[in-house]
Amino acid sequence: MALEKTLSIIKPNAVAKKNIGAIIHMLEGAGLRVMGMKMGNLTQRDAEQFYAIHKDRAFFKELVSFMTSGTVVILALEGTNAVVKNRDIMGATDPKKAAPNTIRAKFGEGIEANAVHGSDSVENGINEVAFFFAERELC
Ligand code: ADP
Ligand code: MG
Repeated sequence: MALEKTLSIIKPNAVAKKNIGAIIHMLEGAGLRVMGMKMGNLTQRDAEQFYAIHKDRAFFKELVSFMTSGTVVILALEGTNAVVKNRDIMGATDPKKAAPNTIRAKFGEGIEANAVHGSDSVENGINEVAFFFAERELC
């Protein structure tokens, strides 16, 4: 079992609803350690680059618009099997299909405003953390 990095983003809907603390509590409770944290508003360029993998999907424009619609909290997380641990505590993309007691089941408001982002592979965990954090910003 390897020590991995993964990226979480608390999305604008969850920040607006004052769910930052509750979500970080769940991530820490799942065995993840916060190694970097920043709060701010993504630019259109940030969001387009970050979600470039989805650029041909029908929902891409809306997703970029949603992710830039308000403040987000960006978390670099570390832990043993951090990628899977984070995906498990997040729950399914569609909050209606997310298992009970997952972040998306509790705080998701729809398939787009689903409260959190999480890296989907070990490689993307490394790349997504590096997208937002310089090495010296990680503790
Ligand atoms: P996940 O965030 O679970 O890894 P994806 O990578 O497939 O899911 O999608 C990225 C994000 O795009 C989702 O978290 C969600 O905000 C949005 N999204 C995914 N599917 C749809 C959809 N069918 N309609 C609108 N937005 C969507
Ligand atoms: Mg994804």
